[in-house]
Amino acid sequence: MVYCVGMTGGIGCGKTTVARFFAELGAGVVDTDDISRELTAADGAAMPAIRATFGADFVDASGALVRSKMRQLIFTDPAEKAQLEAILHPLIRTQVEAALAQVRASYALLVVPLLLETRQYLPLVQRVLVVDCPEADQIARTMARSQLSKAEVQSIMCNQLTRSERVRQADDLLVNDGALETLHSAVQKLHLDYLVRASAGHH
Ligand code: ADP
Repeated sequence: MVYCVGMTGGIGCGKTTVARFFAELGAGVVDTDDISRELTAADGAAMPAIRATFGADFVDASGALVRSKMRQLIFTDPAEKAQLEAILHPLIRTQVEAALAQVRASYALLVVPLLLETRQYLPLVQRVLVVDCPEADQIARTMARSQLSKAEVQSIMCNQLTRSERVRQADDLLVNDGALETLHSAVQKLHLDYLVRASAGHH
């Protein structure tokens, strides 16, 4: 199995940005959010079960999940959220393992927003990389990028570990509190370190 770095961080911390930097440098990036989106895109593998469980109202004309409607439902109802997760999580897991098996790069970067909360992907990774940033940046960046309100962003943050707990569990830390160029050089350094670790086969 390929050497694998697990990456996590709170919403809006910069995980997607960091993953793109690593991919440009040649790492084999596998992103559970991307996989989840594919599973719920038009005719995605999760759509038959979603239609059967939640009804045709949650499926648009193209066969894709109506995300805004589902987001609303699961924000207010933990049982519905659990049902959605019961459909998605096993499918995501299977896709992650298939994607990692296909990585031909020197090492893989597995992006899992709730890596340290659910802990189910920890056995697949040799190292944990945490992207951290101040909460004010998290809220501002997430609101600027999505249709979410401040309350919705804060509610997502409530379901995630606190910054200090996440940072405590990190083997490597990227602090994204400045310019993107600063972040990029920090990623370059880590990339070289991961190449060495992967080729030496140590952790
Ligand atoms: P995540 O994947 O962790 O939710 P993203 O990488 O999507 O976070 O970043 C959230 C938003 O903030 C994106 O629009 C991204 O372009 C922007 N962003 C991330 N880091 C910085 C930074 N250092 N400076 C300015 N904008 C940033």
